[in-house]
Amino acid sequence: MHMRPQIQQPGWLTGLAIMVVVGLGYFAGAWLGVTQTISPDGKAIIWPPNAVALAALLLLPVRRWAWIIPVVMAAEIIADIPSFPLWAAVSFGLINLFEVFLAASLIRWFTGPRFNFDSLSRGGYFLLFGPLLAAGAAALFGAGVYRELAGERFEYLAHWQMWWFGDALGLVLLTPLLVIFARQYQGMLQTWTRKRLLELGALLLLLGVMGMVLMVTMGQKDSGHPLSLVLLLPPVLWAAARFGVAGAAALVALVAATSIAWTVHGSWALHDEDPEGAILALQQFLAVTATVGIGVGLLMGEIEAQRMRLRLFERTMESIYDAVIITDARRLDDPIIWVNDTFETLFGYSRDEVIGRHCRFLQHGEEDQKGVREIHDALRCKQPVQTLVRNYRRDGQPLWIQLSLAPVSDSHGRVTHFVGVQHDLTELKRSKDELERRVAERTKALQKANARLTQQAATDWLTGAANRRQLMRRARRELARAQLNGTPLSLLCLDLDHFKTVNDVHGHQVGDQVLKHVAYTIEENLRPTDLLARVGGEEFQVLLPDTDIEQAGEIAERIRSTLYDLEIRLNDKVVKITVSVGCAQTGRDGEDIDSLMRIGDQRLYEVKALGRDRWVTG
Ligand code: GH3
Ligand code: MG
Ligand code: MG
Repeated sequence: MHMRPQIQQPGWLTGLAIMVVVGLGYFAGAWLGVTQTISPDGKAIIWPPNAVALAALLLLPVRRWAWIIPVVMAAEIIADIPSFPLWAAVSFGLINLFEVFLAASLIRWFTGPRFNFDSLSRGGYFLLFGPLLAAGAAALFGAGVYRELAGERFEYLAHWQMWWFGDALGLVLLTPLLVIFARQYQGMLQTWTRKRLLELGALLLLLGVMGMVLMVTMGQKDSGHPLSLVLLLPPVLWAAARFGVAGAAALVALVAATSIAWTVHGSWALHDEDPEGAILALQQFLAVTATVGIGVGLLMGEIEAQRMRLRLFERTMESIYDAVIITDARRLDDPIIWVNDTFETLFGYSRDEVIGRHCRFLQHGEEDQKGVREIHDALRCKQPVQTLVRNYRRDGQPLWIQLSLAPVSDSHGRVTHFVGVQHDLTELKRSKDELERRVAERTKALQKANARLTQQAATDWLTGAANRRQLMRRARRELARAQLNGTPLSLLCLDLDHFKTVNDVHGHQVGDQVLKHVAYTIEENLRPTDLLARVGGEEFQVLLPDTDIEQAGEIAERIRSTLYDLEIRLNDKVVKITVSVGCAQTGRDGEDIDSLMRIGDQRLYEVKALGRDRWVTG
């Protein structure tokens, strides 16, 4: 048996890779924070490493969260040691771990396992639990450590705020970038069309020009204030609207990097007056701008997603082969507010003609239908319903419609609309009717064939007279009737005379034709209630209900004399025939059919012996 080798990455290797990446990222962020964003009086304006740790926690499964603890501690201590004592570095590490674990746990708790900045609510939870709550809480401890470091002369609240804003800024600016990049860098590359690249260029150019203007104006005494940076808001909003959360975060990160570098190294106009106030104002501005930018990015993403869904549903509705109607349940009389293309083609009304009307015009006044009553009930009780109704096209042609009606509720559970999907069953019904018609036709033909078969089973194929079976059946019935009513029943037994000669002289086929003529002629001399049967080659029997032997003799004579006179013309030849007849009657000659037949036959032979062409009644 061949087994496919299972290539499974060893857990420790992935763990090691994650630890290295997070460690390096955290160290780089800490180094940046400690060395590059430190104000002249020694405070970090922005603290980026927590963003790396939080992004890692949001991307990793919870079972791997523990791996980042040692690397964060190590990176923090290595980055801090040149500037802070070991106890402070360890404290900072623990405080930062507390911050990111608190933020990640809460965000995960509220948004589920695969976090991304792809909806307003997820972005909202990130902003609430990350920069606002966790950073603010961690800052309470951070400011405490600073107090220990600084000794007596210390403003706790100012330090708390600065720590908070520094951490918040780092989280707001970098976490979205890292998470979005990790989650969808493949998809992002595909969206970089030439047009978008040009737009990005224009945006950066605008930002650059504004930055220059700001730098020049703020360089002059009395004219500058960090809040002039508010002018940078429009490009950030542009970035948010066109490039989403990642675009907004990247742009604010760029603004932040420039303005911080400028503050730390450059000719910041406010250094002389109130450096601490200037830094706080800058932090506030950057935090607000980033939050607004990310918020707008999320909102635009949400709007675009909703628009996409709407387009999808509209397109679906349009391409459905059923007619779809939407009515407004909040307005009196449930007016139609939307119909799809199929509705127009199926019913022959244009959209403008039906919007604003109640659906009842589709029934052309034929409202007394079970389906229509069900629809009215459903509308009144705001319930879904499935039913069959007869509607009419504009030209009066009836349509059999299977209607599915469903209420649509708003977020408060109030029914605002009804959606009706009308499936046309007319063709199906027509085919069903056609099928039924054909089945009925076939049944009729079958019945006819059956009757013919029954007839054939009862008649003699050559002469059309009854056969022996039919004779016996009728005879039994007539006998019972005769006994019940006390009426006589008679039987004639006939045999053609010298028929063999006819065959010999004219041939068998002519003989057959003669038999047909004879049967026909005998039939002519009988009443409708009498029955003629061919019981042998050229032997016949006649059942005569309500007939006594005298009358039977008369009938026998009538038959005999008619046949005697008959000239059968076949193939230019004239064939003459005579018949011998034996008669019998119930009561007189026996009580059952067999006796009648036996006596009849005996008399027939008597006739033959007597010389033929005559009849005998006993
Ligand atoms: P008879 O009754 O007067 O004694 O003489 P017959 O020649 O009629 O004698 P019988 O009744 O015994 O003979 C029957 C003959 O009728 C024999 C056969 O040639 C002929 N026959 C019987 N059935 C058929 C038939 O279905 N078609 C034709 N063409 N002839 C038949
Ligand atoms: Mg015979
Ligand atoms: Mg005969």
